Amino acid sequence: MNGSHFKSAWVAMAMFMACSSHASLLETGQTTIQVRGQSLAVELVHQEQWMSPTLEEAVIHIAPVLRSHAAKTNTEACVRLCTSMSEPSQWEAVVITAHSQVACPLIRVCSQGFEPTEHHIHSHPRQQVSRLNRADQILTGSDESVGHDRNIHLPSRADQAIGPGFLVTQRSIMWFDHRSHRVVHRF
Ligand SMILES: [Zn+2]
Repeated sequence: MNGSHFKSAWVAMAMFMACSSHASLLETGQTTIQVRGQSLAVELVHQEQWMSPTLEEAVIHIAPVLRSHAAKTNTEACVRLCTSMSEPSQWEAVVITAHSQVACPLIRVCSQGFEPTEHHIHSHPRQQVSRLNRADQILTGSDESVGHDRNIHLPSRADQAIGPGFLVTQRSIMWFDHRSHRVVHRF
């Protein structure tokens, strides 16, 4: 990272959104969020409930959905894991995308009987981004249209700033926090 203003402004990040009602996401497969006064469409990629004995196994179970989305669309997908309020080893994932190549809004949305955890997963696009789209511009607050090289196989500085979390790339699943990262699974 060269520290230029533009680069640090747009590097991939996972954004935390307020805990507002996004029931329409589960009902219709889409919702709209407001980012700095602009409307951004968010789409449901996948919803699933399953049993996994540990957090890491739960992440390994659902990560291929995010990886496949990134491979097909070259945009990011993300999910904040939910757990059952009665059965701790039952998980739910409401995987979404805002069609951004460089960011993904982490919305707290779970089905009835489930509650959001603080564990989040996001994927990076399959390949370098050469042109920023409108969703990229809204989420990063930049009106630049030219992308930059970045290491899509590692968590960005912005990712680490909001850590801990999990990053899914075409190669691996990584756990990261503010200071470090480690591979938990290789594809
Ligand atoms: Zn990232």
